[in-house]
Amino acid sequence: MKGKVYLVGAGPGDTKLMTLKGLECIKKSDVIIYDRLANDEFLKEAKEGCEFIYVGKKSSNHILPQNMINEVIAQKALEGKTVTRLKGGDPYVFGRGGEEAEVLYDQGIDFEIVPGITSAIGGLCYAGIPITHRDYASSFHVITGHLREDEDKEINWNALANCKGTLVFLMGIGNLKHISDRLIEEGRDPKTPVAFVSWATRYNQRTVVTDLENAYEVAQEKKVKAPSLIVVGDVVKVRDKLNFFENRDLFGKKVVVTRARKQSSDLSEKINSLGGKAVELPVIKIEKNDDTELRKEIENLRDYTHIVFTSRNGVELFFETLDDMGLDSRVFFGVKVCSIGAGTSEELMKRGIKADIVPERFVAESLFEEMKKTVKNSDKILIPRSENAREFLADRLKEICEVTEVFSYKTVIDEKSREIAEDVLKSDVDYVTFTSSSTVKNLVEIAGENYKELLEGKKLVSIGPVTSRTIEEFGLEVYKEAEVSTIQGVMDVLVGCLLY
Ligand code: SAH
Repeated sequence: MKGKVYLVGAGPGDTKLMTLKGLECIKKSDVIIYDRLANDEFLKEAKEGCEFIYVGKKSSNHILPQNMINEVIAQKALEGKTVTRLKGGDPYVFGRGGEEAEVLYDQGIDFEIVPGITSAIGGLCYAGIPITHRDYASSFHVITGHLREDEDKEINWNALANCKGTLVFLMGIGNLKHISDRLIEEGRDPKTPVAFVSWATRYNQRTVVTDLENAYEVAQEKKVKAPSLIVVGDVVKVRDKLNFFENRDLFGKKVVVTRARKQSSDLSEKINSLGGKAVELPVIKIEKNDDTELRKEIENLRDYTHIVFTSRNGVELFFETLDDMGLDSRVFFGVKVCSIGAGTSEELMKRGIKADIVPERFVAESLFEEMKKTVKNSDKILIPRSENAREFLADRLKEICEVTEVFSYKTVIDEKSREIAEDVLKSDVDYVTFTSSSTVKNLVEIAGENYKELLEGKKLVSIGPVTSRTIEEFGLEVYKEAEVSTIQGVMDVLVGCLLY
């Protein structure tokens, strides 16, 4: 039985620049073989049990020599596996993809190539540089800067210097002096603009602009390192107008997201789409409690006048139990549904339930104020909620009427985060976001005695007053608090911090 190999171009780094076809290959593969320039975030998309093989290359420091990489790919395919060989950019642009495919051909192994966005074009685009432009360049050349002596002779420096097209050198940083000298010697204007784009399309992209005669000195001074693109040509001038990527609100900022793994994606997605880098450190995990009591109260729901939901999780777990019981939202007939805020209401809406009472500020105090206006002594209220939630709402409502609380779940520490917490917090993080008091408590617990030291210099952003109070109780300082206690509110704070 022979397997199949997909040589997939992963694009220059921004994970969304992967093609649909490439993603499909990742999802169906038994083995993924990848290197340094292919963003390893893609591995999350792989199926359960997929084998990952890192054959990372750093120029001049190859971890696995090319012939061994070829061998690994072939061997896995010959074992009958579906293999994705993930390569940065496009597999056929200096990625030695052609050689890898030839080896497969020679061994009679079935293969397909999935092109990718090359850094030579896409990377420039994210630096605000169009590779061609009617006013500045009507051709472009992509050249390897990692030249063996015999290859250098092959390059027609005179033609490159005089063609007026845009020149893009890959793997050229180590040879920069030679490149700029040769171009000037052969007649290119020393004042020709030059840009270095490092880690293009990623959150840590950096662009340095200079001109040909100063290129080497400037690169030294600004410590330009691989992987970088060297762009030579007048198109660099347009960057001032077209630099959309580096101008985004959160560009270059690293933001820690402490929400539960299952819930972190919307915040992370928002951070990433504004140019930041969300680092997920989920410190809480939702654990469902035994639902015997909840089932009993659902059966009795007709006796209640109100049901109060104080979190998305509460809604989700309530409906899970409802579904297990073979029931649906019709159980709410005649019962007023109260929600603490926008997120909870949204979760209810997904199930076709529009909350009757939602306070203006999304905290228990406001919900109480709102309910107080209509709740009567003869009413009966059910609150299915987290074991760890605050007592405030239930306590105050109990002063008015009969209240039953059911602890349908609890938040516990996500143990998996213990191992990575220290590394995450020691890295160059700008912001840490807290979306509930338990995220604060658990992060402190996970970080251990040195938590203050680990959080020093980081800006702590809080979703609302209760979370802020918890942050302060641990002797930490709240950098900013969301005006509206929602994920969007947290985003507004992050963006606002940078604007003002
Ligand atoms: N196949 C890849 C290129 C592989 S050669 C492609 O199509 O993009 C490796 C070189 O590509 C690096 O040394 C660097 O010059 C360039 N490169 C690749 N990804 C890059 C990125 N995100 N930012 C800057 N340069 C990059």
